[in-house]
Amino acid sequence: MNFSDFIANNDMIKNLDNLGYKNPTPIQEKTIPSILKKQDVLAKAKTGSGKTAAFGLPLILELDVKKRYETSAIILAPTRELADQVAKELRRLAAFVENTKILTLCGGTPMRGQIQSMKHGVHIVVGTPGRVLALLKKEALNLEYIKTLVLDEADRMLDMGFFEDIEQIINFTPKKRQTLLFSATFDDKILEFSKSIQNDRVEVEIEEETSSIKERFFKFSDEGLEIAVQHFKPETCIIFCNTKIKCKEIEARLQDKNYDALSIHSDLEQIDRDETLLEFTHKSCTFLIATDVAARGLDIPSVDLVINYDLPKGQEVYTHRIGRTGRMDKEGLAISFVRGYEEYIDVQLEDINSLHVDSPRSYKAKMITLCIEGGKRDKIRAGDILGALIKEIRLDGKHIGKITINRKDSYVSINSEFAQETFEKLKKSKIKGRTLRVWMLS
Ligand code: AMP
Repeated sequence: MNFSDFIANNDMIKNLDNLGYKNPTPIQEKTIPSILKKQDVLAKAKTGSGKTAAFGLPLILELDVKKRYETSAIILAPTRELADQVAKELRRLAAFVENTKILTLCGGTPMRGQIQSMKHGVHIVVGTPGRVLALLKKEALNLEYIKTLVLDEADRMLDMGFFEDIEQIINFTPKKRQTLLFSATFDDKILEFSKSIQNDRVEVEIEEETSSIKERFFKFSDEGLEIAVQHFKPETCIIFCNTKIKCKEIEARLQDKNYDALSIHSDLEQIDRDETLLEFTHKSCTFLIATDVAARGLDIPSVDLVINYDLPKGQEVYTHRIGRTGRMDKEGLAISFVRGYEEYIDVQLEDINSLHVDSPRSYKAKMITLCIEGGKRDKIRAGDILGALIKEIRLDGKHIGKITINRKDSYVSINSEFAQETFEKLKKSKIKGRTLRVWMLS
């Protein structure tokens, strides 16, 4: 199928082409036509399936830019990270519509700024239930014009205890509205929830493409983690643990061995979580050690290897975890360590010592990420940073990695051999005619 089979707007088709979205993903193919017909949809889709564009595309197509004081859509997501990613994707999809205002409303950011932003009008709100409800109670947010309510990762929101907050939020929206519910799992809880808030829903379930993920199970052994890593030699790897204490322990253990490993868990301040994730996506850290809560909703573009250092409690969490590898048609690998008391599970157990390790590779970070105090707000573009690095500092372009420009700051990864020298020089050189503060991450 092509996007043009169900989207008539040529500008959107062109935009999708620019984004590199050649064809709709299965979830998009099955949900977009119903969503465009204003039907309520209950869809089973996991992160990486293209679900954000599945609900985002119709929202953008239906948007009336003139009505910025009549917020027409709200998307509720379980975590700030997911809300940020949803907003980012919506902005990409709306790139051809001028003056679209998409606002994220999440905890961890002062309310004052959010209230101020809303005064200028907003078309689409993306937020976490707690903060959205708090703003509704303060009468800072008005949902009386909502046409579409989206609940993203609904299963996760219920697991996190957001049910009552969501119910209260729904009471602020019109009875006549479209409700879209996306969930990675369908269980009785979700079906009940759907019944209570949706009308004549269309149910969409995509067959799991498990074939693109190879799963292997090993008997737990103390050195098993290192053996696995040295045998499979991933470029990007997520290691899941069940507790944050274990995350920190594994992080310290790998760092002691000079492996570039960082952990992400709920003890970290939001800013540290963002930086850790940035280092991971910028490849200045190969191993991300995470708890389920911290990892949920992170948009990490497919990792080579998922390791369940601890087996998760339940099949659903397991499915979520291994879904981090083998996304968008890439073959992935997920391995799990099984302790003696867990050996009742019905899998074929292998001995980790049977894995062959030849010439262990170094896992010292190949890239180091620099942070520059200046971003979109200061009209800085990737070209300005490249210009400073290549023309002023005379760094060879091949030593420069990914560049990310945020609102207030920017990140660039540099080959670690040249990072210190580049850092010293960049501190003294000018970007867009100004000397900006620069930090080296980690
Ligand atoms: P999501 O499941 O929404 O997190 O999307 C996963 C990734 O797929 C995101 O990076 C999207 O930008 C990308 N994506 C979404 N739709 C398409 C498409 N039709 N073709 C290619 N990539 C897509």
